Amino acid sequence: MQLEPGSSDDAGRIAPTAISLLNSVFGLPAFRGEQEAIISHVAGGGSCMVLMPTGGGKSLCYQLPSLLRRGCGIVVSPLIALMRDQVAGLLDAGVKAAVLNSTLSWEEAQAVEQRLLAGHLDLLYVAPERLLTQRCLSLLKRTRLALFAIDEAHCVSQWGHDFRPEYIGLSVLAEQFPDVPRIALTATADDLTRKEIATRLGLDDAPCFIASFDRPNIRYEIVEKRNAKAQLQEFIAERHAGDAGIVYCLSRAKVEDTVAALVKAGIPALSYHAGMDASLRARHQDRFLNEDGIVIVATIAFGMGIDKPDVRFVAHLDLPKSIEAYYQETGRAGRDGKPSNAWMTYGLSDIVQQRRMIDESTGSDAFKRVSIGKLDALVGLCETAGCRRERLLGYFGEACDGPSCSNCDNCTSPPRVWDGSVAAQKVLSCVYRTGQRFGAMHLIDVLLGRSTERVTQLGHEKLSVFGVGTELNDRQWRAVIRQLVAHGHLQSDSEAFGGLKLTESARGVLRGETTVMLREETSASTKRNRRARAVPASGAPGGSGSSALLTALRNWRSGMARELGVPAYVILHDATLEGIVAASPKSRDQLRSVPGIGDKKLERYGDALLQLVRADGNT
Ligand code: ADP
Ligand code: ZN
Repeated sequence: MQLEPGSSDDAGRIAPTAISLLNSVFGLPAFRGEQEAIISHVAGGGSCMVLMPTGGGKSLCYQLPSLLRRGCGIVVSPLIALMRDQVAGLLDAGVKAAVLNSTLSWEEAQAVEQRLLAGHLDLLYVAPERLLTQRCLSLLKRTRLALFAIDEAHCVSQWGHDFRPEYIGLSVLAEQFPDVPRIALTATADDLTRKEIATRLGLDDAPCFIASFDRPNIRYEIVEKRNAKAQLQEFIAERHAGDAGIVYCLSRAKVEDTVAALVKAGIPALSYHAGMDASLRARHQDRFLNEDGIVIVATIAFGMGIDKPDVRFVAHLDLPKSIEAYYQETGRAGRDGKPSNAWMTYGLSDIVQQRRMIDESTGSDAFKRVSIGKLDALVGLCETAGCRRERLLGYFGEACDGPSCSNCDNCTSPPRVWDGSVAAQKVLSCVYRTGQRFGAMHLIDVLLGRSTERVTQLGHEKLSVFGVGTELNDRQWRAVIRQLVAHGHLQSDSEAFGGLKLTESARGVLRGETTVMLREETSASTKRNRRARAVPASGAPGGSGSSALLTALRNWRSGMARELGVPAYVILHDATLEGIVAASPKSRDQLRSVPGIGDKKLERYGDALLQLVRADGNT
């Protein structure tokens, strides 16, 4: 665009304002949260940092100022797939956008450069290593630039989990282009990362816009692990039939195993892990992005830069390493703002496994201490009887409004908490008397008075603790032992093959000085949870007639996406399809007022969409 906002050119055309572009290009009626303040700051030539959760709406914060300011906006992004899909979406909305990265041929790259120099581009996405070449920097110096947007800015942080060496070089932007505003964006919020971004990108004096990290449309639920695969199948079948979702496991073997089980149950599942052939992995990712209703089962290597807005659930079959990792992974659900589930199964073996991974890692003692602290915080989240959201946000230094979020398992069906001090004493003395080297299974056999081969071999049926715990069953004892580990009264000992030993704090419990409150896990509460689900996870609003229209719209969209070779959501989001069903538009004007339908979309798809709505009305 060539005009300053609100001004007019020689021909008397009025320059667009941010809100008018939001509406005409993106088809959206209003800004969200901090967007407006950020956009007006950057459009006015200011640099800044933006911390916003995944799905918060970061892209508009640099796309709109690029359209409002003279010259081309340069977007630095480390993720080729993400660049491709964002550009496809922008082109479909009528924005002059292009990419410059290693996937282009020499001729294609030349053509893009020519368009840039001729002032024919509003937005250019560039990979960082490309941007830093002499050729590209000198090209940019000859071009009028609207801004630099540094997406995934936490990649400059050497302490972070996504460090990319090529991001370090981005400090040249401040040095060589002091007059071009820079906007650095990330969903990673911790203080250390924030400071490092500011220093490296020359943003020490620039304002930092921090959005709330709450994701109100995500429902958090953490359940006791029994048979993880069966639990997952039930979760998908009952709550997410036909939905797209991501399942995380720790190991490749478990990924393959889980995919096999899901496929056998008729769920379209695909694997994704580092051990696979790269082209097959890329194919699976593409199918997940482009087709409706695929479940991808992945190790943590999957997901950064996955922009798919309609991921309806994220399931964890294993415990992640930290709350940061959990929040980032679960954050991939529900970018479109519609109800979504973050669901995890968790058990004693998870804590033991993660502890062992830390103990056996080659990191320094300081690193191990930090890792254990992070694991403890995550285990605390799993064991809390209070609101999960409050815990999560509290971890990031944010307070929750109100006493209950009404959208986590503990808020919708609060678990019963009981005084488990006596049960705890029984477990701890059982651990002590058996020599602090056995796992939960053997301890439970002793507590329940079972004369198994091992028990008799070791003479453990002669111990005073043998058979003292018949008031609880197997599962209940497992839950008690897990919580004693979680509360730090027991610790798994890597040298004793994960056997449990007492910690310093166990003494207070054994002496009766420390009360141990435990949360009760019953199968009944799982059932209650299910019924208490506040909102259906997916499906069309309204009756069966409208769901037929939704299906027709989806089919039309799939065909269109295949024809254009782009993901379905690039054509129209689910929320927009549902908006059409709800509004049942009869005219182009009515269709235009559905959120997500901008001028270009109306022009391209208006007739086809109105025809589908009419056809539905006639049946
Ligand atoms: P992020 O990059 O922060 O993860 P995106 O920029 O991809 O998030 O936006 C996430 C989703 O929110 C997208 O589907 C986008 O269309 C939608 N969105 C962003 N801003 C708005 C808004 N003001 N009104 C409605 N939807 C919005
Ligand atoms: Zn809650």
